[in-house]
Amino acid sequence: AVQPYDPENIFAKILRGEIPCTKVYEDDHVLAFNDIAPQAPTHVLVIPKGAYTSYDDFAQNASDAEIVAYTRAIGKISKEAGVVEDGYRLIANTREHGRQDVPHLHVHILGGEKLPRMLP
Ligand code: 5GP
Repeated sequence: AVQPYDPENIFAKILRGEIPCTKVYEDDHVLAFNDIAPQAPTHVLVIPKGAYTSYDDFAQNASDAEIVAYTRAIGKISKEAGVVEDGYRLIANTREHGRQDVPHLHVHILGGEKLPRMLP
């Protein structure tokens, strides 16, 4: 692995119930909760329950069932958050250059307002 999984990361603690969160979705493979420091009116973090550090780790090592569940959950949560019609943004910050703070794969769903442009 590029990077070993750190079982003490904050999302691992949330998954174990050691730290509370505001849950917005859960199934066998996925948990989603509101970001503690929202950057937009809707700011949800979607994580696989498995111990994956990043999107590349997940894409290579997760089972088909986990990948399907995660992909569908992101779509479903976006719809339930009411951001699909007006639009939204998905972000997966990855490791140092991507400025990832928490080393457990998470996709940010941001929406609810017109977001600032990220790329020129
Ligand atoms: P990253 O920079 O790794 O892509 O994003 C980590 C995100 O996790 C940040 O947006 C941050 O606000 C959020 N976060 C950090 N600690 C906690 C926490 O304890 N609970 C929740 N709900 N979000 C957190």
